[in-house]
Amino acid sequence: MSQSTVPVLPFLPFVKPEIDEETIQGVADVLRSGWITTGPQNQKFEAALSGYCGGRPVRTFNSGTATMEIGLRIAGVGPGDEVITTPATWVSTCNVILQVGATPVFVDIDPVTRNIDLNLLEKAITPRTKALLPVYLSGLPVDMDRLYAIAREHKLRVVEDAAQAFGSTWNGERIGKLGDIVSFSFHANKNLTSIEGGALVLNNDEEAVLAQKYRLQGITRTGFDGMDCDVLGGKYNLTDVAARVGLGQLPHMERFIEQRKKLVRLYFAGLGKGPAAELGVGLPFADLENSNWHMFQITLPLEKLSIDRAGFMNELKERGVGSGVHYPALHLFTLYRERGFKEGMFPHAERFGATTVTLPLFTLMNESDVERVCRAVNEICEQYGK
Ligand SMILES: *Cc1c(COP(=O)(O)O)cnc(C)c1O
Repeated sequence: MSQSTVPVLPFLPFVKPEIDEETIQGVADVLRSGWITTGPQNQKFEAALSGYCGGRPVRTFNSGTATMEIGLRIAGVGPGDEVITTPATWVSTCNVILQVGATPVFVDIDPVTRNIDLNLLEKAITPRTKALLPVYLSGLPVDMDRLYAIAREHKLRVVEDAAQAFGSTWNGERIGKLGDIVSFSFHANKNLTSIEGGALVLNNDEEAVLAQKYRLQGITRTGFDGMDCDVLGGKYNLTDVAARVGLGQLPHMERFIEQRKKLVRLYFAGLGKGPAAELGVGLPFADLENSNWHMFQITLPLEKLSIDRAGFMNELKERGVGSGVHYPALHLFTLYRERGFKEGMFPHAERFGATTVTLPLFTLMNESDVERVCRAVNEICEQYGK
């Protein structure tokens, strides 16, 4: 049997975390220390995150879903209240609205930015609207000046789903430094990871104390033996092992973002011309200033392809390239259809959700990886374009 002499490149996943040896050693130290759940590493992590967000109070949680649920509770959102959000997001964004007993109100996206359309948002405000829940898809913020002008005018709370926007900026200021309640996720796929985890940026000490209570059973301790429970909290605290991973990531954030931007420029160059461009493959809004480039999502001109999206993703896989879908329009999921949502209500989000493919983008990638992905996309467009 003859062996192929063509070198086989390793499979390129669409995402992969970068954890350095210092962090791995640090995690081993935490495991040996005898204190593995919420403790000193969390205090350090919260202080560092607060420093990153201009000194505002920050509390960690075990997910970027718990953060939003608790953020809504702190904002006083409950049964009878409406919360305005986008259907083009991870389902978590909207599930938390149901979790607190409130009513989700969807507003379509701007097809260029793929974020909630602020013109439509303003029209969706009713006397029952209590809060706005904008999402910064792939790390691209909405027009923050406009968002907060609307919130002020209508006296609404804002809980920012900045799960994907850690390190993103607006007018040179980091997301989280300004604004009302800001929620970050540190899930394994996010720009900064603590394996699982999240953080809430809050307005004052009162909110921070409330966040701490909601995070751990509503408990307040005093002295050596005093204990009370005065709100219904849950179990959302972050372990010190996770906090140590997050702490190890923080010093690399600026480099991570620069590396992502470098790769993204190559994507724009590689897909901005050639068969993919000619066929009409859609590219993200090219904001190389504010966005932290959490993901790079293209849209497929399916009417001009003889394969469907799954077929396209399979062709990528055949060429050693991983891909994902972020996100199908969530109002078409059964849970939301049962609440009266259906096709045609949010056409831009539906079209984006049905045609988008997430290409590989992570800090351990190099230039030739991007070239390889672009070559694959162009090849598939050439082969299956009609
Ligand atoms: C990741 C993510 C979440 C949820 O974060 P978890 O830490 O996975 O709970 C919420 N919203 C968006 C937009 C996300 O990307």
